[in-house]
Amino acid sequence: MTSTSQPAPADFVPYETEVPTLDAGALYWDQRGAIACGKHAPLRGSDSWAFDRWRKMAPKDIAGFRRDTGRAPWCETCGAIQRNARCKEGR
Ligand SMILES: [Zn+2]
Repeated sequence: MTSTSQPAPADFVPYETEVPTLDAGALYWDQRGAIACGKHAPLRGSDSWAFDRWRKMAPKDIAGFRRDTGRAPWCETCGAIQRNARCKEGR
């Protein structure tokens, strides 16, 4: 990995040599604002993880999200699964 002009966040991990264990209870987000839980975030070290700069949401990130949107952040994939379940039930 070559250096870039932008400094990486302190918790940015561009590459790991072993299959990672993400904290399933934590939330992660990328530089565009996509949010995922530990089960649904890209595999750490993958191109998606590295190029989209996925990182764990810090308490200040969660507070900022709540302030900006008026709701708690949640995993977009888990949210879609729940919405799909409601759809099948005809709600
Ligand atoms: Zn999820």
